[in-house]
Amino acid sequence: MRKPIIAGNWKMYKSFDEAVDFAEEVRDKIPSAEKVDSVICAPAIYLPTLVDIATETDLAIGAQNMHYENEGAFTGEVSPAQLSSIHVDYVILGHSERREYFNETDEAINKKVGAAISQGIVPIICCGETLEEKEAGKTEAKVVYQVTKALEGFKSEEVKHMVIAYEPIWAIGTGKTATADDANHVCGFIRKTVGQLFGLDAANEIRIQYGGSVKPENIEELLSKEHIDGALVGGASLEVASYLKILEAA
Ligand code: PEP
Repeated sequence: MRKPIIAGNWKMYKSFDEAVDFAEEVRDKIPSAEKVDSVICAPAIYLPTLVDIATETDLAIGAQNMHYENEGAFTGEVSPAQLSSIHVDYVILGHSERREYFNETDEAINKKVGAAISQGIVPIICCGETLEEKEAGKTEAKVVYQVTKALEGFKSEEVKHMVIAYEPIWAIGTGKTATADDANHVCGFIRKTVGQLFGLDAANEIRIQYGGSVKPENIEELLSKEHIDGALVGGASLEVASYLKILEAA
C-alpha cells in the first residue's frame, strides 16, 4: 500500500506573518504521518522558519524549485545543499510555471532530480500536457516523454522513493479539473511507463499525485482511484480550512 502524499504549493503567495500563522495553526491539526504525508512547499525565504515550526510535528516542508549545482556563481539561486542544510524534505521540480516562465528544460530537471536525491531531498517531479496537446490526443506521449527524461540515468532503488505529480496544465489554477477517471488513466499510464523503465517494484512503490484545481469537494473521488496517491494543491492549500479538509480526506 502506498501512503498518500498531499503537498501544498503556495507559489509566490503569503506574507511572512501569514506563512508563520498558517504553519503554527496546522502543525498540530494534521493527520498522523503514519496515514498521510502532509507537505507545504513555500517560498524559499520562509523555509528555515517553517522548518523550525514543523520540527517534531508531522508537517513536512518543501521548496518549490532549486538549482542543480550545490554551489557556484549563480546569482539569485538556491542550491540543493543549502536546502538540505536547513532540513528541507521535499522539492517541487519542473512545475509547468517554471517550464513556461523560466525556460526550465527537461535536461535541467533531470539534473535537479539527481541533485535532490544526492542531498536526501524527495523530488516531486511535475509533468502534464497543455490544452492543445490534450485536444490533439497527445497527453500520453507528452507525459511519457517528460517522465522518461526526468528519470533518465537513475536506479530503480532511487526512483521508487520519488514522487511524480501529473498536472494537466489546462487544469492548474483554472477551476477545471480532469475527471477522476481521466486523471487515474494518465497516472496509471505513468506508472506503467515507470514499470517499463525501472521494473515492477519501482512502479508499485513510486507515488503519483494528481494536481490541477484540487479542492475539498473533489479530493475524495480522486483519491479513491487506484493510481492516484495524493495531490499537489495550489489555490486550496492557501487556506487552513481547505488544506486540512484535503488532508483529512487522505
Ligand atoms: C499547482 O500549483 O501545482 C496547482 C495544481 O494549482 P491549483 O491547485 O491552484 O490548480
